[in-house]
Amino acid sequence: MNEKEARTFITFFSIYCENKHLEKEKKSVTFKNFGANKEIFLCEECELLATSTLLNRISCPKNPKPSCRKCPDNCHGPDVKSKVRKVMMYSSLRRLLKKT
Ligand SMILES: [Zn+2]
Repeated sequence: MNEKEARTFITFFSIYCENKHLEKEKKSVTFKNFGANKEIFLCEECELLATSTLLNRISCPKNPKPSCRKCPDNCHGPDVKSKVRKVMMYSSLRRLLKKT
């Protein structure tokens, strides 16, 4: 995952959390370690999910790395994977809708 991908990933999480977790208490999170110097606000659940997924992707031993979707080693586990997919799908759709 390069810097741009990491930034998109983080942005998608902030969009999702902002719209889906309105009631939850959020705190400021920065992802400097991931090459994406960006501050966002996430609830605890989203922070955990985003951080662990990013960590997994960055420490992935596969080089060149296949896309996680195609990867045979399901390192995130099916539960995390489907949660992350939900976040990504929701936010990319929302972004598309906003643009039009
Ligand atoms: Zn959240």
